[in-house]
Amino acid sequence: MIFKSLQYEEPLFRPPGEGRSAIIQATTGCSWNNCAFCEMYTSKNFRVRSLEELKPEIKLLADHYRSFVKKVFIADGDAFVLSSDRLISLLYEINKQFGRLQRISCYAMPKQILNKTEDDLKKLKDLGLKLLYIGIETGDDDLLAMVNKGETFSSTLEGIQKAHNAGIDTSIMIINGLGGKLYSKQHALNSAEIINRINPKFLSTLTLSLPLGTGHFKNRFRGEYVQQTVVELFEELKTFIDNLNVNRVIYRSNHVSNNLPLEGVLSRDKKIILKQIEEAVKTTPKHLMPTSSSIL
Ligand code: SF4
Repeated sequence: MIFKSLQYEEPLFRPPGEGRSAIIQATTGCSWNNCAFCEMYTSKNFRVRSLEELKPEIKLLADHYRSFVKKVFIADGDAFVLSSDRLISLLYEINKQFGRLQRISCYAMPKQILNKTEDDLKKLKDLGLKLLYIGIETGDDDLLAMVNKGETFSSTLEGIQKAHNAGIDTSIMIINGLGGKLYSKQHALNSAEIINRINPKFLSTLTLSLPLGTGHFKNRFRGEYVQQTVVELFEELKTFIDNLNVNRVIYRSNHVSNNLPLEGVLSRDKKIILKQIEEAVKTTPKHLMPTSSSIL
């Protein structure tokens, strides 16, 4: 019933960890919408929804879920592109309607954090924006350019450190297989390096999914793409995890795109996770190719 009254523009995505959150769609689509591997928002135009448009939906969601929903997720693809003033007004309204919340979160790009002042980031955190989901995808500068991510190792590192300095936690996503066979090693090693420097609260790995086929991806990828077998993807993941040296990072590979679900606290469970990957390498047919998921 309530969903009929909400003006969600589909498709609507949220991270696995926000499955029990109220979702407020403050923007539609992604303001960047240019990453070579991403089909999430290619069917939508980016649009900012006004606070006046959102107010009745926030009230409706709060009236239904106030007593048991503790988290709010602000959609769509990069709602952190909103100006600090817009975000502050939105957070005021969410807090006014919901009352006490555990946290508010959204997707962000590092350059959008760099565009905001330290004072504004602290204000946003004080208003409950305690977690940013950031798909950095890789720490490798060559690959970041090849997939047209619009970020570099430095901008990613600086942006995320700025959020952390303001007290905002991050949940970081890396894409296993992003560069195919040819760039696999540099992708794994440079991704481990940036994660070691960031030390995020949460880390997850997804696997490259090509719902529109490898040909479509190859046309958009600014390098030479040679698809990996499932075993090669596991080996890349093993190199990445093996080179991580972090403090208490909660790791998950529970996305539908993954061939091997893994989870643990990296400083404690790294050896167990590596053993699970080694076992998967041993028991998976050597020439098995990944199947495409329709999620990305
Ligand atoms: S990966 Fe993120 S930033 Fe890139 S196009 Fe998709 S939603 Fe936008």
